[in-house]
Amino acid sequence: VYPTTDRSVVIRVTDTQGAVGWGETYGLVAPGIVAALVDELFAPCLKSLPVQQPETVWDALYDLQRVRGYWGGYLADALAGLDIAVWDLHARSQGMSLQTALGGSGAHEVGAYVSGLTGATTEARIEQAQEWQAKGFNDLKIPVSATTNGDVRGEFAALRDALGDDHRIALDLHWTLSVDDTLAMEKELLPYDPWFLEAPTKPEDIDSQRAIGSGLQTPLALGEEWRTEWDYKARRGICDIVQPEMGHTGVTQFMRIAKLTRESEVQLIPHATIGLGIFMAASLRASLAADVETHEYQHTIYDRNCALLEGAAACEAGRFIVPDTPGHGVSPNADAFRYLTKINE
Ligand code: MG
Repeated sequence: VYPTTDRSVVIRVTDTQGAVGWGETYGLVAPGIVAALVDELFAPCLKSLPVQQPETVWDALYDLQRVRGYWGGYLADALAGLDIAVWDLHARSQGMSLQTALGGSGAHEVGAYVSGLTGATTEARIEQAQEWQAKGFNDLKIPVSATTNGDVRGEFAALRDALGDDHRIALDLHWTLSVDDTLAMEKELLPYDPWFLEAPTKPEDIDSQRAIGSGLQTPLALGEEWRTEWDYKARRGICDIVQPEMGHTGVTQFMRIAKLTRESEVQLIPHATIGLGIFMAASLRASLAADVETHEYQHTIYDRNCALLEGAAACEAGRFIVPDTPGHGVSPNADAFRYLTKINE
């Protein structure tokens, strides 16, 4: 279920010296839940924690409910939003960019792959993909739903024909298939050289994910719904590409997942979801620190919402151009506050 308008939860943390950090997390259908978790559980504890040590803060806050079995869902999202704000505050008050605070190097570029085509017909979608290609975007992902009469093979063949052999084209299966159906679909798509297959089956069905991972020739991509390194550890060796979503992981867990993937030579291609652009900014900068080659680009949302921020990275010619400004570099501007509703203080 999606809301009828873009929704998100933005969190501001201020320390006793007046330094500010901005965070953001999922608030798509029930933003009040996230806000209540911050207000009633995390914020009172945060006041006694060392905000200049963001990982220590994350570990302490995560521990609060761990043995009661609360380590995911809305609770982890609220923690992710707070973690982004704490990292932002920490880096800003040191005068450092987030990527530098995470051990990366200053201003840089991250590849951007075009996510989704909105045309109503295959022809319209091909035209749109070619427009992006002409602007220097040579990587594309389509969702399984954007096909004509459910003909995924036909859509893929038409795109491959129109875009040429060098264009990377991935398919997001949106958790819709069984093991056998995924393997059968891959067989149909192999002649068109898919880049990767994403989220083929139910997100919590690890046995099926494992069976798909061992049966595919095409790289398997998983992880947009994961919150912590524990979600990845339970699936180590299953997938070839991990897609952490900063709005769910926060900076601390994004970087811990990145470290684990490096150890097992799994590729990191971060996910980008609906948001104001604060967690997206954090994701781009963590991506620089994690040496990510390419990042999802939600072209229908990103540029529109960047207009509500100061300092957002431009996305041009297949690259995000990320500056070396302090923290994650963005804060809501006056226009953003026309849309933001204050939940609590
Ligand atoms: Mg997806």
